[in-house]
Amino acid sequence: MEKNSVLEKNVEQQENNNVGADMKFCKHCGGKIHKDAVLCTLCGRQVEKMNENTQPQIIINNENNNSNVNTNTVGAVGVGNPKNKWVAFFLALFLGGIGAHKFYEGKILLGIIYLVFCWTGIPSFIGFIEAIIILFKPNPYYV
Ligand SMILES: [Zn+2]
Repeated sequence: MEKNSVLEKNVEQQENNNVGADMKFCKHCGGKIHKDAVLCTLCGRQVEKMNENTQPQIIINNENNNSNVNTNTVGAVGVGNPKNKWVAFFLALFLGGIGAHKFYEGKILLGIIYLVFCWTGIPSFIGFIEAIIILFKPNPYYV
């Protein structure tokens, strides 16, 4: 008796599985429809996407516009020797006529030119202008 009932259940399950393999449930009305059906035969609504639209169009736009321009120049921030802004400022302001700020910046040749022409008064005038320029520089600034 028990064996028979188990067998019957197995047969029943197999039948259910067979039906389930070919059929699916409509997500709108819940009715059993064929698994290949795109439109539900019971409620008429679309349950699957049309085959031609299943593959989404992938447009790969791979334009590479990288342009590495290296504009590192000597004298840029962080390059060269750091100089104290205020030392250079006061040297240019008071001793600019003899090129003291140029010597401080390590520009020995320019300093000598300032020194040679100090009697004309022009280097002290340039030194005054350079003192103002130094005023707008970061502290420390780099030469
Ligand atoms: Zn339906």
